[in-house]
Amino acid sequence: MSILVMKFGGTSVANVDRIARAAKRVAVEVAKGHDVIVIVSAMAGETNKLVGWVQETAPLYDAREYDAVTSSGENVTAGLMALRLQEMDIPARSWQGWQVPVMTTSAHGSARIEAIPTENILRKFGEGMRVAVVAGFQGISPEGRITTLGRGGSDTTAVAFAAAFDAVRCDIYTDVDGVYTTDPRICDKARKLDRIAFEEMLELASLGAKVLQTRSVELAMRYKVKLRVLSSFEEQTDEAGTLVCDEEDIMESNAVAGVAYSRDEAKMTLTGVADRPGIAAAIFGPLSEAGVNVDMIVQNISEHGQTDMTFSCPNDQVLRAETALNQAQARGDIRFEELVTDQGVAKVSVVGIGMRSHAGVAAQMFKALAAEGVNIKVITTSEIKISVLIDRKYMELAVQALHDAFGLDKAA
Ligand code: ADP
Ligand code: ASP
Ligand code: MG
Repeated sequence: MSILVMKFGGTSVANVDRIARAAKRVAVEVAKGHDVIVIVSAMAGETNKLVGWVQETAPLYDAREYDAVTSSGENVTAGLMALRLQEMDIPARSWQGWQVPVMTTSAHGSARIEAIPTENILRKFGEGMRVAVVAGFQGISPEGRITTLGRGGSDTTAVAFAAAFDAVRCDIYTDVDGVYTTDPRICDKARKLDRIAFEEMLELASLGAKVLQTRSVELAMRYKVKLRVLSSFEEQTDEAGTLVCDEEDIMESNAVAGVAYSRDEAKMTLTGVADRPGIAAAIFGPLSEAGVNVDMIVQNISEHGQTDMTFSCPNDQVLRAETALNQAQARGDIRFEELVTDQGVAKVSVVGIGMRSHAGVAAQMFKALAAEGVNIKVITTSEIKISVLIDRKYMELAVQALHDAFGLDKAA
C-alpha cells in the first residue's frame, strides 16, 4: 500500500466548485492505487477574517482563544472535501487535528508538531477507506487545548503527515504552478524553477516567500520527504511543478537563486539607552516574553556612555513590543529617551547557495538598489542570504531591480 499526501491551499478550496475540482485531482491519484491523505486549508480569506475578529475583540488577545477561533476555518473545508469525495463514491472521512491526534507544543499561535500517531487513520485505510481528509494548521497541546501552527501552517501539517506515514510524496497544490525565482505576482520576469535546494527554499520561506511555510521545509529536509509544489488549476503530470530536493540533485549554479520579500515589517529604535553589559538582555528579554519575533538588530555607536538600539519585527507586533518596552521602563528595568517606530518598512532579501563561493554579491546588490535610488536602512547577512530593510513604497521596485541585476530570468 502506498500513501500519498496532497495539500490544497486556500485558493484551491475557496468555494464549493474549487473543492469539487480538487476532489477530482484526488480521485485521479486514488485511481492510480494510492491511499490518500488530503490536508486542507481554510477557504481563501477565511483565516484573515477570523484573525481580524480576534484583533477587533481583544488587541492583546489570549493566544489560546486566538487558536480556538482561527483553527475553525479548516474544519469547514475538511468536512466539505470529505462530503464531496463521498458523492464521487470514494470512501472518505474527515479528521480535525485533535481527533488524529496531531500532538503539538503549547506555543499557541505558532505551535510545533511533536507527534502524529498513525493508528487511527491506518486502521481506517485497512477497513477500505481510501481518503483521509485532515484539517491543516491545527493540533492539540499537552493541556488538551486547540493549537495552531502559525500562518501558512497547513504546509507543515502536510509534510508532517508525509513523514509520519512514510508517504511516497507530499504534493502541495497552490495557486501558482511551482516555486519561482521570486513572487510571480510582483515580478513578471519571475521564472519557474524545476528544482530548488532545501536550504535555498528554507531561506526564501523564512524571508517571506509564503509559497511554503518555513517549518514545512525544515521537516521535509530532516525526514527526507519528497516535496513538490504545483498548481491545482491545471492538469498535472508526475513531473509538473517544482521539486524541493538536495543540493546535489540540482544543475543550476547562479550565485543567487531567488529574491524574497516581507512587506509588513516595522523598525523600532530605542534612543539614549545605557551602553553597558546586560542592556541587550534587558531589552530583548521582555520582548521575547511578550511573544515579539525580533528579526534584525543593530546597536549604534556609543556616545557619552549612551547608544541607540534598533530592531525590526513584524508590523502587527508593534503594539505588543511598545507595551513590553514601556512596562520594562516603568519597572525601572531599562531606561531610554524615546521609542521611535517606523511602520512603513519592508525587507527584501537575495538567497543562493552559490554565495558561498561567489564573492561580491552584497556589493552588486547594494549597487542595484542605489541605481534605483532606494535607501537601505538596515542590513543583515548570513552564509547564503543578504537582507535589507527599505521603505515599503520601494519594495516592488527593489525586488524587480534585484531580479534583473542577478539575471534571474535566465537559467544558469
Ligand atoms: P496557499 O493558499 O495555496 O497556501 P499561499 O498564498 O500561501 O498559497 O502561497 C502561494 C503564493 O506564494 C503565490 O500566490 C505567490 O504570490 C506567493 N509567492 C511568494 N514567493 C513566491 C515564489 N518564490 N514562488 C512562487 N510563489 C511565491
Ligand atoms: N489557513 C491558515 C492560514 O491562512 C493555514 C494555511 O492556509 O496554511 O494561515
Ligand atoms: Mg500557504
